[in-house]
Amino acid sequence: MFSSLTARIAAFGMLVMIALVALIWMLVDASTQTRDSFRWVTHSADVIETMDDALAALREAESGQRGFVLTRNASFADPADARIVAAHDAMARLTRLTADNPTQNMRARELSSLIERRIGLLRGTLAQARRGDFDQARASIAAGGGRDLMTMVSLRADSFLAEERALRVTRIDAADRRLTWVRQLALVGGPLFALLICAMSLLLIWGIRRPAGHIRRAMTALGQGDRSARVTGMMGSQEFAQLADGYNAMADHLQAALADQGRSEQELKAAHGALLRNSDTLRERGEVIELLGGMAHRMQAARTDDELAQVIGVFVPRVLPGIAGGLYAHNNSRNLLVPVAGWGGYVPQADGFAPDQCWALRRGQAHFVAEHGGDIVCSHVDPDAIYHCEPLLAGGEVIGTLYLEGVVEDEHRFRLTVMAENISSALVNHRLQRGLREQTIRDPLTGLFNRRYMEEALAIEIARSRRSGIPLSVVMCDVDHFKRFNDEFGHDAGDTVLQSVAAEMRSRFRDGDIVCRYGGEEFTIIAPGTTAQALSARVELLRKGITEIVLRQGGRALGSTSMSFGIATWDDAMARDGSTLLQAADAALYRAKRSGRNRIILDTPEADDDAIDLIPAPAPAQASVR
Ligand code: GH3
Ligand code: MG
Ligand code: MG
Repeated sequence: MFSSLTARIAAFGMLVMIALVALIWMLVDASTQTRDSFRWVTHSADVIETMDDALAALREAESGQRGFVLTRNASFADPADARIVAAHDAMARLTRLTADNPTQNMRARELSSLIERRIGLLRGTLAQARRGDFDQARASIAAGGGRDLMTMVSLRADSFLAEERALRVTRIDAADRRLTWVRQLALVGGPLFALLICAMSLLLIWGIRRPAGHIRRAMTALGQGDRSARVTGMMGSQEFAQLADGYNAMADHLQAALADQGRSEQELKAAHGALLRNSDTLRERGEVIELLGGMAHRMQAARTDDELAQVIGVFVPRVLPGIAGGLYAHNNSRNLLVPVAGWGGYVPQADGFAPDQCWALRRGQAHFVAEHGGDIVCSHVDPDAIYHCEPLLAGGEVIGTLYLEGVVEDEHRFRLTVMAENISSALVNHRLQRGLREQTIRDPLTGLFNRRYMEEALAIEIARSRRSGIPLSVVMCDVDHFKRFNDEFGHDAGDTVLQSVAAEMRSRFRDGDIVCRYGGEEFTIIAPGTTAQALSARVELLRKGITEIVLRQGGRALGSTSMSFGIATWDDAMARDGSTLLQAADAALYRAKRSGRNRIILDTPEADDDAIDLIPAPAPAQASVR
């Protein structure tokens, strides 16, 4: 029941109240009794005083009666009467005052009776004296009846007074005892009461301070970071036990929340780390994509295989740092992978290799040997090589392979994949472009450059010649009597003749020379770095070679043919667009035709129509068919 602090405080309050009420009651009771005691003492004094007054009045009345009788002076009579009345009244009052005490009351009544008898005697004597019968009055006095009565009254009064005085002493003692009791009650009860309050207060204070201390210590420890701090000591009361339980539950929740928060922070850190890593990866990929974009852009813009190889050679080491390798692509006939580019010190195999020598090409997916014996080794690489072959695919078709020395780490796979796709599309695009370009600059029948290309190339070569001072010559040539092939064997046969002549022409000139079909059966050769004179020897070989061609179409013999040639060399007086030079060569050709065909005429300043043959005209080239 008293495990509750409030119950204890209530009980304590009740106890204090009871004690206080008891003390007050006792004090009030004691003081009431004391007052009563003092009343009784006063009452006794009153009784004694009234008795004394009655006796005194009686004696004064007796004295007045004697003075009147002896002196016959009537002035004594009235006072004597008054004293008689006073004595009578005093006795009546005494009888009333002693009503509470039967013994004294009886005595008072007896006394009152004696005094009434004495008053009767006095009144008789006074009446005698007033009547003037002083002798009789003196005789009455002398009879001594009054004196005897007075003696009896005195004796009884003494007895009465002695009793009353004894009573008064007893009452005074009682009042004194009660007064002492009140004082003792105040002296003892007050301090006891104070002691009780102090004790109770101390108990309450102790009951509050001790658990409050436990709770404060736990809270301070928690505040200083000790998450395991709990209220463990004795609480001593229900309220503090509940408070401690509540606090401990709160600390448990706090600890759990902090643990959760810690876990959340860890997860947040991990997520942040992952985000940073992802961001790094994204940034790196962004850089790579930018790099690959630049590479792709340049590859698309490359016009020649050389330019393409240069772009690849520059960019691949940047995309895959520290990895040497080479690029191989299918040749036109798709029976060989030929080297396109090499980087990082790797020298590609000049002869290339067959597609089925590479496992990556066979399988259509990356093939690598990251450790000796880790996988089968392609036969186009060293048997001990650690390498990676990445096939280049376009539209599901293999168009080449990237050969890389060493191991391509996982983080570089993304770069490699994107780069391989870029190179593939660039290769395809490059080939398409090259094909388109070829179509625009090549004559479809003979495969030679067309006239438009010839004119552009001539202007470029003239500019180069003007800058460098290196000579530049042009040959204009025309198949002799070509029309007859058409006429005799048909147009297709004529086409075949043109193709045979073109092949012969192509085979007779250097790489830098530009062999073009000018139109119909007329051809132009631009020969940079040579004079007409020097060129004529090579043209002569061509002329001969053409005459030696055995022309056939299918199984049909078409006979032989010949060509006439005019050669001119550029000089500064000529137009820069090449028109004058071509006209000069054409004029020389015209002269060759005119002078009998199958010959070479040089456009020289001293030349004239009949004396410019460098090569003597052989027998007229007939379209001798059989
Ligand atoms: P000449 O010796 O004077 O040059 O006599 P020619 O017959 O060669 O010259 P001509 O100018 O009289 O005839 C050229 C012919 O070539 C006319 C034309 O029908 C023919 N020809 C032009 N282009 C082609 C072609 O692409 N294919 C064929 N089959 N014939 C062509
Ligand atoms: Mg002709
Ligand atoms: Mg012609």
